[in-house]
Amino acid sequence: MLAIIKELFINLMIIIAILTLGNMIVRDSLIKKSKKHSFIIGILSGVFGCLLMLFSVRIFPNIIIDFRCIPILLMGIYFSLSATMASSMVIGIFRVAVYGLNMASFSGLITALFLGLVCGLIGKQNIGIKNKWIFSGIVACVVPGISFVLLLMGSNNLYLIVLVYVISTALAVLLTSQFMKYIVKSNEEYYLAKESLNKDFLTGLQNIRYFDTSLNQNLDEAKKTQKPISLLFMDIDFFKKVNDTYGHLNGDIVLKEVGQILKRLSRDTDVVARKGGEEFTVLLPDCDASKAVKVAERIRKKIEENIFVSDQKEEIKITVSIGVSSFPETIADEEKLIEQADIALYKAKRSGRNKVWVAP
Ligand code: GH3
Ligand code: MG
Ligand code: MG
Repeated sequence: MLAIIKELFINLMIIIAILTLGNMIVRDSLIKKSKKHSFIIGILSGVFGCLLMLFSVRIFPNIIIDFRCIPILLMGIYFSLSATMASSMVIGIFRVAVYGLNMASFSGLITALFLGLVCGLIGKQNIGIKNKWIFSGIVACVVPGISFVLLLMGSNNLYLIVLVYVISTALAVLLTSQFMKYIVKSNEEYYLAKESLNKDFLTGLQNIRYFDTSLNQNLDEAKKTQKPISLLFMDIDFFKKVNDTYGHLNGDIVLKEVGQILKRLSRDTDVVARKGGEEFTVLLPDCDASKAVKVAERIRKKIEENIFVSDQKEEIKITVSIGVSSFPETIADEEKLIEQADIALYKAKRSGRNKVWVAP
């Protein structure tokens, strides 16, 4: 009995190890739930089940116990019916191919296919992850349990073996479901942390860190392809007065809406970022100086015309000053692109604000 528990424990640890490794591999590749990927994942999950079978416990010469049902359940709950069927097919065929064609192997094949079908169908239901685990878990205990009863009919240890199988499978399902819950939650936190690393939390725009990386990448690309690239540096005029008059909270409301206007007036390929405070930048790849000035002018005009509304329903009007620099047209040295946009912004401010100024 101790030997059985020992072997099943190894099976369980293989499950945890494979899930940990698998998650590390797929977490960043964002495997889409497309049919093609789904089938490949199903096959891989089948291989995972075969690995578990190699560490199975031999109870009778032809009868083995292991947790090969777990990969099938995982496919049903987290992927698709086709992935579940692919997984159970690989497992069933492996059972017959490696352990020979006998009643037990044949029953293993049928059990795997039936389990795959039922768990795949349970996975398709709109009943929540927890219920899917409960129903699939029951099926994983009952279906192979029945096949053991049929195969071992008349044997002395029949009930003990079935009991060991059912209890250990139930425990394996419980542990795997809890481990998957932990993986899904930690993945959500990981994606959130990864995203917030590049996001400005107030406006939802990109932050300066993302902007710097993106500027370097785009400049390298622009040098290679000989395509122009332009930069807008924008600063809200007399923003301190907005805060002083309407309060910091309303200042934040204005900053958020300015962010939305910038997003609306730019292309998907542009990088709109908040530099900090009331300063914003827009990186315009494949855009020369004259087009960049048009974009800047459009933004300046839109913000000048826009009526921002405070939490007390007061109307707030603001203007912005924008500095423009373009590589290689107006700035031949790409190192100076930021510096020149900054100088152009300063000049826009000095010449009376609510203006667009082009460097140099
Ligand atoms: P200028 O036309 O010369 O740019 O005048 P300004 O008042 O906009 O310039 P200044 O740099 O003196 O003031 C910027 C103000 O922006 C000061 C600061 O309180 C405000 N500010 C910076 N970050 C935030 C923020 O996150 N929220 C709010 N509400 N205000 C901010
Ligand atoms: Mg400023
Ligand atoms: Mg300002």
